[in-house]
Order: sequence, then C-alpha cells, then structure tokens
Amino acid sequence: MSATPPSGPGVLRIALDTPLRRLFDYLPPEDLPLGAMPVGARVHLPFGRRQLVGTILAHAAGSELPVERLRRVAELIDAEPLLDDTLRGFLSWASEYYHHPIGEVVAAALPRLLREGAPALAALTHWSATAAGTAALAGAPLRRAPQQRALLQRLIATQGASSLDLAEGAPNWRGTLRKLSEQGFVVSHEEPVTLQDAAPLLRVQGLTLGSEQQAAFAAVRAGLGGFASFLLDGVTGSGKTEVYLRVIEEVLARGQRALVLVPEIGLTPQLLQRLHERFDTVIAPLHSQLTDRERLLAWRDARSGRARIVIGTRSAVFAPVPQLGVIIVDEEHDASFKQHEGGFRYSARDLAIVRAQQVGVPVLLGSATPALESLYNVAVGKATRLSLPRRAGAAATPTLALLDLRAHAQHRGLSAPLLLAMEKHLGDGNQVLIFINRRGYAPTLLCKACGWIAPCTHCDARLTVHRASDTLACHHCGAQQPLPTGCPRCGHELRPVGQGTERIEEVLRERFADVPLVRFDRDSVQKAADLEAALLRVNSGEARILVGTQMLTKGHHFPQVTLVGVLNADQSLFSADFRAAERLAQTIIQVAGRAGRAAKPGEVLIQTDYPQHPLLQNLLARGYDGFAQAALAERADARWPPYSRLALLRSSGKTAQAALAFLEQARAQAQPPMQVKLLGPVPASMARRAGRHHAQLLAESPDRAALHRFLADWLPQLDALPEARGVRWSLDVDPQEVF
Ligand SMILES: [Zn+2]
Ligand SMILES: [Zn+2]
Repeated sequence: MSATPPSGPGVLRIALDTPLRRLFDYLPPEDLPLGAMPVGARVHLPFGRRQLVGTILAHAAGSELPVERLRRVAELIDAEPLLDDTLRGFLSWASEYYHHPIGEVVAAALPRLLREGAPALAALTHWSATAAGTAALAGAPLRRAPQQRALLQRLIATQGASSLDLAEGAPNWRGTLRKLSEQGFVVSHEEPVTLQDAAPLLRVQGLTLGSEQQAAFAAVRAGLGGFASFLLDGVTGSGKTEVYLRVIEEVLARGQRALVLVPEIGLTPQLLQRLHERFDTVIAPLHSQLTDRERLLAWRDARSGRARIVIGTRSAVFAPVPQLGVIIVDEEHDASFKQHEGGFRYSARDLAIVRAQQVGVPVLLGSATPALESLYNVAVGKATRLSLPRRAGAAATPTLALLDLRAHAQHRGLSAPLLLAMEKHLGDGNQVLIFINRRGYAPTLLCKACGWIAPCTHCDARLTVHRASDTLACHHCGAQQPLPTGCPRCGHELRPVGQGTERIEEVLRERFADVPLVRFDRDSVQKAADLEAALLRVNSGEARILVGTQMLTKGHHFPQVTLVGVLNADQSLFSADFRAAERLAQTIIQVAGRAGRAAKPGEVLIQTDYPQHPLLQNLLARGYDGFAQAALAERADARWPPYSRLALLRSSGKTAQAALAFLEQARAQAQPPMQVKLLGPVPASMARRAGRHHAQLLAESPDRAALHRFLADWLPQLDALPEARGVRWSLDVDPQEVF
C-alpha cells in the first residue's frame, strides 16, 4: 500500500472469479464515462489473453498501477446493478469472515449463466432479422463478416431468438448483434415482466394452530420488521411447517418476500409442494437439480421481485430478494448447509443469521434436533427458543430401546429380537424401517486364508463390495474395479465381511419372502424420479419393508411405519471427530421420528455392542435435550466449539512430505497472539485420498475476533510461500470435521 493517495483517471474496481485476494483496476470503455458504470453491474473485460466477466464493486479516484498499465473494460453488461448495496455488503462480509477471495465469493453467489454474461433482467429482449438483413445475407455487405452472417442466418432460421437463447449459443454474440443492429439488419423488442402488486392470494386457509404453534407464530410475528433469531425446536410431526407457512403468509401480506433454505437432499419437493398448495404466487426454487437455464430463470424471478417466495438449498442464501421479510432455515442442524468442498467453504445456516441481521429481519431456524451451536445461542441469549414438544393429532412419541448384540443371536447383522419385532409389526399390517448408514453389499472383502483385504490403491481405505454391479468401489474417491474371483495373493476364495444396505435387503428378502421391500440409498435412488417412485411404493402401502441410509432420515413422512431398527450405530461412538456424537444422536432421533405418526405408536430398536455407553444412555433416559446438555458440558470441558472457534488449514500434495512441509512453513510464519493456539500439522485421519496426501493444521481460540485478526494477517503470507506451489491448500473456518 502506498502512503500517498493514488491519482489519475477514475477506475473501476472489479471482482473476478480468480483465487487472487484482491480487486482488479480497469478503466471504463472508451465510449462510457465512469459514472455510467453502476457499482454492482457486470462487465466483459480482457484478462491476460482471456475474456472474462467481472462485477464492479467500487469506483476509485485512481489506481496504484501506472495508468499505462491499466486496461479498459470491453463492455458493460448490466444497465442496473446486478447486486444491490445490501447483497454486496453481505458478500463482502462473507469474504472477510471466511477469508476467501471476494471474486470467488461473488461467483459462488451467481448462477453459471450469469457468471458467463447472460442477461440478468427478467424482461427478455427478442431479436429478429429485418428485410434488409435477409437481403444482406444474399448480397455483398456481409461477405467478410462470418460471425455476423452466422448470427443472422440463425435468427432467420429460428424466426428470431431471445437474448437468453443467443447467450447459450455464441460467445461474442453481443458485439456481433450490435454491429448487425447498427446496419439495420436486426431489430429487437422487449417483453417486460409484470409484477404482482396485490397481496398474494391464499389458495386455502391454514390449519388451526395448536396453542404451542400459535405461541411460536405470535413470537415471530411480533419480531417482524427487525432482526431477531428464533430457534423453532419441534419434535418430528409437531407441525413446524405450518408455523413456517403462517409466518410466510404474514410476511407476504405485508408486501414483503420470504427466503426459505432447505437441506440438500429430498426436502425441496415436499416443502415446495406445500408452498404451492397454500399460496397462489410465484415461487422461485433454487436447488442442485435444476438445469443452468432453469436456475437462471429462478434467480431472475427472485431478483426482479416477481417471486414472492424463494426456496433453495445452500447457495440460495445468496439469492437476491427485494423487500426481504423473513429467512427460514428448515432442518437447520443438517450438515449439507455447510459447503465443505472446493475453495469457498461456508455455512449457509450461519450466513442466514448474518444476512437477517444486516437486512433487519427475523431468522427462523427449525429442527427436531437442533445443532449444539444453536442451543448454545439460546443459552447465551442470542436466540429465542420456541418449542413444539408435542406431536400433532395426539400421536404418541416413539419409545426407544437398546438391543445388546452381545446377548442375542444374530442372523447376518440382524439380531433375533429385532427379527421377532419385525414379524409382529408386519403381522399387524404395519410397515418396518431398517436404517443402516452404509451402502453397498459389504464394507470389506477378505481372504480368510491369508488375511488379504481388498484395498483402494488411491486411498487409505478398504473397497466396498457392490453385488448388484459385481464391483468393488471406493466410497472416498469413486474408484471401481470388477469383483475379483479369488484372492490375488493366494488364490483362495474371498468373503464379504459386514453389512451394507444391499446385503440387508438380501437377508430380509429371504426371511420375509412375501413382503415387498424398497431400498433407499444412492445406488438405488439416483434421480428425483427414483425417489418419487420409491416414496409412492411406501405411501401407497404396497412396499412394507424400507431399508436405507441417511436418505431415509430426511424429512419424509411414513405414517404406516411403526417399527424402526437402527443397525450400526456403534461406528460413531468412538470416533475421533468431536461432532460424531451429536450427529449420531441427531440421526437416531430423526430416524425415530419417521415411526408411529398418525395414531399408531412407534417403537425404535437400536442394536449395539455398547449398551452402557453414556451417549446412548443419555439419549434413552433424557431424550435429545438431555443428550444435548451433556454433550455441551463435554464440549465446554474440552474447549471445542461453540466454546471455542476453529479454523482448519488443509493441504494436499503428491507426497505426504509436500503436504506437511507447506503446513510446517505456514506454522513457522505464524505469529499467533496469546489467545490463539496452533495444533499440528498432522496427517489427516485418512491421509491418502484419491491419490493425494492430506494434512492439516488447526487454529483454535476462545476469542473469535482474535482468531480472525490472526487469520487476516497470516493468510496473505501463505500465498507467497514457495512450498505453496506444490500443494493445494484451503482454509476452512468453523469446520464441520477436524479429523
Ligand atoms: Zn489370500
Ligand atoms: Zn479410493
């Protein structure tokens, strides 16, 4: 930074989708003054030899660079800001908090087509060829302009096209079109979007709220118009969704809009359907199963205000929503709200709270099993807890019991008492759900003669047996190979050891031959249509046994299920990860919540080798709340979050030495204050993954501000380390996993 203020011509400070931690200075185009380039609008510009799309984040009086080194923006894309002041402020905050380059943060907030320069207005410009244009094709004028010819031919062939269609077709269509337009060969007209100004219509009235629902709704309603954080803590089936719908109704009636965040898998169709059933208004869905074009259209509906409700997964937290009135985060404990891959790792749940605070609206976090962080926020007065402790319709809460695997005979992973209970519940005409959080046939392929175990050659992991496809697959890197016929070391026969969903399905099909079964895992359910078909088989009552992974715990309603069996809870009991206990408790309570809805009481049987384990004992005796209190006390003793703040510096390289050497240098550079402790570097718990070696260095502090000041000083130095060149590294602020 120079001490004297920069001088010279006014420049645009532009965010580009690059890993560099800065903005880039550009001059405006020849034909436009600086003032005609709105902050928040996108531009086309030259960057090295490439053409990129950037977003103007500021105007400045001059640049640190000499004027002769400044390049000009090629073209302004948006006449109005794409990102308004509030959204830009929010993105800047996220960039600072997660210590991630602003250009990549802005890119994460935009659909791909917008990052590539597609028009942002909901109004579409339609282009068509004129008679002069058609004549020009036949004659001389365009002989030396192949791009103009091609575009004109296309417009004639398709009898016109919208700017959106053109954006998908050709890279330099704008400039080409402008040249055609200047010669009078094409004309355009705009189709404006009409906004609904009238209060949106309710299709149907809501259900009558129970007293606790009413109290929760009244509390949120009283908080509208200012920032407040609410934790809606409701057991499964207690009617959280109805509270959301009433809050949204209230917000819409005030002429405002609602932003609803849902977890990655499964929930979107259901909540979306409830919203459509209730409200006669435009709803913009933003989730991972959309095509690029659908995503752009939904984003534009959000941006223009045409959509009164925006509902989406993680990245929807960045969606533009004018006159935002409330943010709702459903199943706030769900791990999918944390982006844990790639460069920009953020928590959409945490960012939702920040956004609500910046905009000045309430945020409503809902869950039957709140995250310990959220319960802590209630305990320290940062959030208000609204409880829905009872199931609607007088349905009884399911009873939980442990099955001691050491005391009972087992039939290939299923204990005798569980099989007996299944017979009874199926005999009564009910459905049974078997939860096993491991897909495939068996997690291990073993040679009993020599002890060989099929390993992944790219990871420190065993390969999983998949019978349906006759393959061995690595669940960490995706590597696949055919199932070997004999031991590659001694030729002896190989045996699958342990159980996955496929094998449990096989066992149950033998045992309950005439009872139709449906399996829910990523191998059997790959598309939204598969999921719908599987759910239909269950809800129609045709399938009576459900076998599945985590997929089964995510919000689906199975009113006929009266028995839930949890097969392999034990693997989480002794994990090195400090969040493993919390996730196990949430999984058990969530899967238990699938049982015994409507008027049928449910029963949950958990198979374990450790029936005396305090976590299981706490959960059984005192429920999720009791578990959470004990778990928070343990976190306080061990100084884990939320009693401390963490940031994890990860690196991976072609060798373990390279990955560690970078972190060792990073540690040597660091000058942490007293309150910040550095732990490591150490190899990651699975050090080799997908052929790369992983290592990590943990920064921990009870003082969030001190930690972030330290990170802000430290990170720019890391970019410059020579050891950084041979590795990939990233910083994960508030990591979900630290092992
Ligand atoms: Zn062998
Ligand atoms: Zn692997």
